[in-house]
Amino acid sequence: MLTKIYISVRYVKVIEFKKIIQKNVYLNPFNEFAVREGMVEIRWDPLTQITSRIVHFPPRKIERFNYDETIRASLSVRCPFCPENVNDMTSRFDKNVFGFERFTAGDVTVIPNVLTFDKYCLVAIISKEHFLDMERLIQGDYIYNGLMALLHVLRIIKENDKEVRYFSINCNYMPMSGSSILHPHIQAIAGEYPTNYHGIMIQKSESYREKTDQVYWDELIREEINLKERFIEELGKANWYVPFAPRGNGDIGCIFEKSSFFELDDTDVKDFCNGLKKVLKYFKQENVSGFNLSIFSGIEGKDSFRANARIVARRFLPPVNAADSNYFDKLHMESACLYLPEDVSDKIRIVWGSSYD
Ligand SMILES: [Zn+2]
Repeated sequence: MLTKIYISVRYVKVIEFKKIIQKNVYLNPFNEFAVREGMVEIRWDPLTQITSRIVHFPPRKIERFNYDETIRASLSVRCPFCPENVNDMTSRFDKNVFGFERFTAGDVTVIPNVLTFDKYCLVAIISKEHFLDMERLIQGDYIYNGLMALLHVLRIIKENDKEVRYFSINCNYMPMSGSSILHPHIQAIAGEYPTNYHGIMIQKSESYREKTDQVYWDELIREEINLKERFIEELGKANWYVPFAPRGNGDIGCIFEKSSFFELDDTDVKDFCNGLKKVLKYFKQENVSGFNLSIFSGIEGKDSFRANARIVARRFLPPVNAADSNYFDKLHMESACLYLPEDVSDKIRIVWGSSYD
């Protein structure tokens, strides 16, 4: 008699940290034209499969940027975000919809962006002062106050307009990050259509959940904690890490426990800002004086996603203050950098005071 044994195997997709190395031989002008093997590491983001390139070349620490001339230039025209100009020079909300023309909380003022990047586009002016260097940003509660004010206005949008599903809070800090206004501010966009990366993350998270019955982000944290190569620390109800496939020279990630950032309470936002301040301390130590920040929110009711943030260092490159963004990310949708994420995480853990080493 033939006995059939049925074994049920549930397919569980594990997170794959895929990378390959490509080499190129050249004669090195910095070492009497001796043969040198150049190397680039191509890494696949475990969720999106979007690749990043890490060039193996000794990175040099740049000089600290001197803001004197930039401050002078920014004040040669009237700054719309300086307190004496806000009333005349910044836009207002429709009071019938929002209940206010500008939302003010302490030193923060939230206004509509005059540039309509999305269905709703907000700017929070986070300081009365025209210029705050990174040290002031680390010492103060400017970003916390700005985030709380933006979340308040975004909640009104969420309640009033049920068509809007994609929310993010973003920051370009200083001109090297793409900010044309020096006066410190953070922004938010809310719309019916996601940006490319926001949409890809949400879509891939859903497919991962369908295939494995697990949440990618929770699995990623578990993997990173096990590996101890890029994990920084759990801080409050969020986990900080250095992403495997970086989006720039210094790319730090934070994954919240919640799917939507509307579920974050006051303490969660405070904890996030404390983590962000540690990242900025690391940037400051490396003479990085600009950054981009994005906090991506998931769609409420969908548990396959976790609200998460990315913070990428931005610098002018000497000797001509070149942009640190080029044809790779502009035209090839590819990030190229010189810093290994594992080295970044070693350095940031020291500044952070983390025990994951
Ligand atoms: Zn100003």
